[in-house]
Amino acid sequence: MTQKRISRLPKDPGPSAWNSIIEPETGYDSIVNDIETDWVIVGGGWAGLAAARRLSQLLPKDETITVLEAKRIAEGPAGRNSGFMIDLPHDLNSEAYAGNSDNDLKQIKLNRHAIDFAESAAIEYNMPKAVFSRPGKITAASTAQGVKHIKSYSQHLAEMGESFELKDADSMRGITGSSFYMAGLKTEGGAMVHPAAYIRAFANGLRSRVQIFENSPVLELKTGSSHVLSTPKGKVKARNVILAVNGHIQSFGFFPKRLMHVFTYASMTRKLSSTELQLLGGEPDWSLLPADPMGTTVRKISDYSGSGDRIIVRNLATMNQSLEAPINDMKRAEFMQDRSFKNRFPMLQNVDMEYRWGGRLCLSLNAMPAFGELESRVWSACCQNGLGTVKGTLSGIAAAEQAVLGSSDFLTDFLDHQAPSKLPPEPFLSLGANMMMRWKQWQAGKEL
Ligand SMILES: Cc1cc2nc3c(=O)[nH]c(=O)nc-3n(C[C@H](O)[C@H](O)[C@H](O)COP(=O)(O)OP(=O)(O)OC[C@H]3O[C@@H](n4cnc5c(N)ncnc54)[C@H](O)[C@@H]3O)c2cc1C
Repeated sequence: MTQKRISRLPKDPGPSAWNSIIEPETGYDSIVNDIETDWVIVGGGWAGLAAARRLSQLLPKDETITVLEAKRIAEGPAGRNSGFMIDLPHDLNSEAYAGNSDNDLKQIKLNRHAIDFAESAAIEYNMPKAVFSRPGKITAASTAQGVKHIKSYSQHLAEMGESFELKDADSMRGITGSSFYMAGLKTEGGAMVHPAAYIRAFANGLRSRVQIFENSPVLELKTGSSHVLSTPKGKVKARNVILAVNGHIQSFGFFPKRLMHVFTYASMTRKLSSTELQLLGGEPDWSLLPADPMGTTVRKISDYSGSGDRIIVRNLATMNQSLEAPINDMKRAEFMQDRSFKNRFPMLQNVDMEYRWGGRLCLSLNAMPAFGELESRVWSACCQNGLGTVKGTLSGIAAAEQAVLGSSDFLTDFLDHQAPSKLPPEPFLSLGANMMMRWKQWQAGKEL
């Protein structure tokens, strides 16, 4: 039996813009009394909700499932991201990607399993195309170096038997309205979500089977034959616990000195007017990943239930092992994002950003998840290495399957990974990582 006081609770800089532009929701109660449940999932993000859905598919109806979320659903990183569900390996420079390695093929298969799982939820929970769709993904290049990356990546895709389409500057302008891009690479298979609307609809779809409590942070975890989780106003007694708190698994005392906490930042414009939309041109909805991993992600969304047509830009990554982003990093992100926006959309010079925000990612040095049974009937589905829409979904499914089934074909593939490796000591880690990221951002040049 162990007793752990939770050392830190999540703090997210700025508003969750995606959540702010859609209709407010009544939401869910907080815990105000002591309760008992068979299964408790801590964290209502991608991993937590995927675990809840998979449990609801696997368990008999009389076993109860409860989700405890520290904040409101979709207010944390789950509702703050850019909404790319990526099936193919992300890093265009990856040496490991060349040579048709079994590992890459396995990763693609797993990623598609997660996207299929998300799609089945989207269908069952009646999500419209603006909330979940599968348009594939476009990687965009705005420098000669970026074009080189795209070409070499497309060769790897050809070796893997994956289909793709190369796009020239004209077709990129046709999509985005911007002359900024020199080339693009379109691949099939990926999905795009409106992150906050998806997470809310997912939670809502679970309502009939899963009890969800918001604003109910777990402050203490006592493990034993029955586990007890304390929240500010009530305790939850549970036989089984799944911790789906991403980097905050460290705040529960697990994986010390193994996890890196990185913030990335984004800005969203105000609603574009019809004149501005005409000036911009291009397609109503599109999304671009940068050819350089440190470049700028850009997305244009069309109106969804009155939220308006808007453009979202994301860039900058900073390591903050305190799990909090200092104001200076937010300011730096604002400056960089205004510059990126102006470079791409000179026809929209008078368009201001309405929302600025940041959010946490959890990475490990060897890009491995913080996954597994940590104590008897306490599982971790954490550390998604920056691609949490897909990896969070995967680890949530995996935690549920491991806890209920013990083994499955999917688990055999998923569990074929190592533990997160040990990090260098502080202050060397943060200094080194932040210097390296600054250097890479500088190298990204115009891709930023
Ligand atoms: C700006 C930005 C853009 C991004 N873009 C993408 C993208 O396009 N594609 C992609 O795949 N990923 C993207 N990401 C990353 C992605 O958002 C995360 O990897 C993902 O949210 C991780 O999912 P998760 O469920 O593991 O964790 P989270 O989404 O962080 O959910 C964990 C939840 O646990 C809760 N929690 C923590 N501690 C406690 C506690 N003590 N008690 C109760 N609850 C607790 C938190 O409040 C949180 O809601 C982006 C992130 C940001 C910030």
